[in-house]
Amino acid sequence: MFGWLSRDRRAFMRLAVGGPLAGAFAAGPSSAAKQAKRLRSARDVLGELGVRTFVNAAGTYTRLTASKMPPEVLSAMQGASTRYVDLGELHEKAGDRIAQLLDCEAALVTAGCASALTLATAACVAGDNVERIKRLPDTAGMKDEVVMQKAHRNAYDHAVRNCGVRLVEVETLREMEAAIGERTAMMFFLNHAERAGRIGHEEFVGVGKAHGIPTLNDAAADLPPADNLFRFTKMGYDLVAFSGGKGLLGPQSAGLLLGRRDLIEAARLNNSPHSDSVGRTNKVNKEEIVGMLVALELFIERDHEQVWKEWTRRCKRIEQALASLSGVSTEIFVPEIANAVPHLRVRWDYRRAALVPEQAAARLRDRDPGVEVRPGYEDGLVIAVWMMEPGEERVVGRQVRGVLAEAIGASS
Ligand SMILES: *Cc1c(COP(=O)(O)O)cnc(C)c1O
Repeated sequence: MFGWLSRDRRAFMRLAVGGPLAGAFAAGPSSAAKQAKRLRSARDVLGELGVRTFVNAAGTYTRLTASKMPPEVLSAMQGASTRYVDLGELHEKAGDRIAQLLDCEAALVTAGCASALTLATAACVAGDNVERIKRLPDTAGMKDEVVMQKAHRNAYDHAVRNCGVRLVEVETLREMEAAIGERTAMMFFLNHAERAGRIGHEEFVGVGKAHGIPTLNDAAADLPPADNLFRFTKMGYDLVAFSGGKGLLGPQSAGLLLGRRDLIEAARLNNSPHSDSVGRTNKVNKEEIVGMLVALELFIERDHEQVWKEWTRRCKRIEQALASLSGVSTEIFVPEIANAVPHLRVRWDYRRAALVPEQAAARLRDRDPGVEVRPGYEDGLVIAVWMMEPGEERVVGRQVRGVLAEAIGASS
């Protein structure tokens, strides 16, 4: 269906990376190792505060600080922190570079994907009209409705509602057509809910185009696959939002808004550093902007197949650590969408062991070192390996084995 996706994009990525960016990667892995070493010897404020730290086998959960930035990102942030710049100029130039890398019209570094949703909405509601920008979230006299599928409602749509808009829920294509009118400012799509709703990407974008209503796709947690960086803007979404601190391994407080130049320009005007704007609470400073750009470069450059193999190897190592426990079964799986990377599911006879998954998770948390697994324990423990340091899978294997062996009564 979207045949332009893979090959063209990959060729483009190689070109882009071989070109003006080549210098960014010339530093090489030994320099990254040095940077990592220097970072490890930094002052341990977390330890001084007595804050619990743990092995992250949960994945990119904000509450658990989600992801770690590679040393190259941290080092570039530190470099940027030593000088002053005009924040607007940096926003524009970094945005231009990102748009060039991602082959889209325009881009903006935002304060996380949630901020991208707010700024996208503000851009669609107030546009570049300064008087309106100052008045948000009071939308009097502006288009103030956002149409979305009922199945796409989610906690993060609060970021859309921050702009004072009303969400209009629809289920069918016919309902969506009927819901669009004079007051429709934007149409919102939640990427990972594509299958949950009745209206798919093509129809959704088609309706937006037919009515001249901007469409926004929230694809926060949908990297990898890396192709998604290009896919949704190419599909015709006017705006696409990603988290910077999930799969991209950029700053936790950064995200990306990609899309139509006029809308990105309007999003900028609705954003920090403009004091009297809805986005002023969404500040990113130069360090996050630079960190986001460098993280994106690293992500594009990365050998995704190799990384995938490494994730699979980690799952298998944990499986091996549990292999001799009787009554424990494991399964490697890849969620179809959102955090679409190898995970390991661990099941046992909960009644026989008198241990439900939630209790096992609590015991893992209490061990030393502690391990956090994915919340939501309907069907066993789910272990995400992609946010671990290399080798931490051995710790996780040992700790999970310890907890289950105790409960089952086997020797660990
Ligand atoms: C994580 C997430 C967000 C918020 O992203 P941040 O980068 O943490 O602001 C928004 N939408 C969805 C679907 C998400 O998964």
